[in-house]
Formats: sequence, structure tokens, C-alpha cells
Amino acid sequence: MKRGVLIVLSGPSGVGKGTVRKALFEELDIDFTYSISMTTRRPRNGEVDGEDYFFVSHAEFEENIAAGNMLEHAEYVGNYYGTPKSFIDKTLGQGHDVFLEIDVQGALQVKEKMPEGAYIFLTPPDLQALKERLVGRGTDDPEVIDRRVAAASSEIRMMANYDYAVVNDEVQLAVQRIKDIVKVERLRVNRI
Ligand code: 5GP
Repeated sequence: MKRGVLIVLSGPSGVGKGTVRKALFEELDIDFTYSISMTTRRPRNGEVDGEDYFFVSHAEFEENIAAGNMLEHAEYVGNYYGTPKSFIDKTLGQGHDVFLEIDVQGALQVKEKMPEGAYIFLTPPDLQALKERLVGRGTDDPEVIDRRVAAASSEIRMMANYDYAVVNDEVQLAVQRIKDIVKVERLRVNRI
């Protein structure tokens, strides 16, 4: 059986990765499995454990790192975020395509281990648009927002390490561009 394709959507925090990913997964003709990340951040209103993230304590996360259970992990604005490894290996091995939505530090770690994946950088049209999104989301303090914008401006320079860049000027357009990339990747590895 052919292994599945790994698609990694990454980019600065606040660029809209979560919104684009959710819109993408609402499309009926999309057939891939989402990898649920683990984090020590507290759930936001409406977030569900085991759906949005696996929410764990700091100690539990560190035990998983020590046990070699994480494909990658990153510390981001005071919290750990990471990708559990066994799920990805198993799902790709069963021939299913896997979709990761992770930050830039994490994506670069995954790329070292799994260079055969398709790495997509989602970029804001400009930094002002990014700041407006973070303020509009209303989930972070002004100080955290400033840290996220500062992180974004240095992360944008990492775009050159990716296979594709997609501008998130409008969600449905970004979704269409990502669907085209998935098609190209499946063709590239002879899946269709
Ligand atoms: P948020 O707190 O807004 O949910 O996520 C903060 C950042 O962490 C976002 O850029 C998000 O994409 C990223 N992130 C989510 N899951 C993972 C993961 O498993 N690994 C890494 N490295 N980053 C992640």
C-alpha cells in the first residue's frame, strides 16, 4: 500500500491557520486526517479536549518529550505545543493523508525528519492585518499580542524554507489554493 501524503500548514500566529484549516475540512471532497496537537495552554471558550487539542499539564507534556512520543514540539509564548508521533506514523502507513497545522519552529523540525512532506507557509497580506486579526480575536492581552506580532515578523523570513507560500487575503481563496497544492502533491507521488 502507498504511504499517505503529509501536508503541513504553517505560518505566524494570528495569520488565520486555524480558520483556514477549519474551512478546508468543511469541504466535502477533502479527504485527509487532521493531526490533533498537544498543548499546555488553557482551553479557550468552546475548545474541546481531544478535538481542538489534547490539553495537558506541563509535567505531562515533559513526560511525553522524555519518552520520545513527540514528532516535534515548540515553546510558544510561555506554553508547549507539539505533535504526537505515533498517530502520524500509523495514519501515513495506512495510506491516509495527514494534515498538520503547526507553528514555524515546529514545521522546520518536522521538515528535517520528513522532507518528503509538502510544507505550506500561510502568510498575512501585511503585519498590520495580522495585528488587527489578533486584536479582533480578543483572546490575548495586548502584551501577548505584541509578542505574537514580533514573533511573526521574524517568522516571515523563514518562508524561503517552505515548498509553497499562500497569502491569506481571503479565507475561501486560501482554501482553494491549498486544495490545488494537495492535488499537485498527490499527483507528484503518483497517488492519483
Ligand atoms: P494557539 O494558542 O493560537 O492555538 O496556537 C499558537 C501557535 O501554536 C499557533 O501558531 C499554532 O499553529 C501553533 N501550534 C498548534 N499546534 C502546534 C503543534 O503541535 N506544534 C507546534 N510546533 N505548534 C503548534
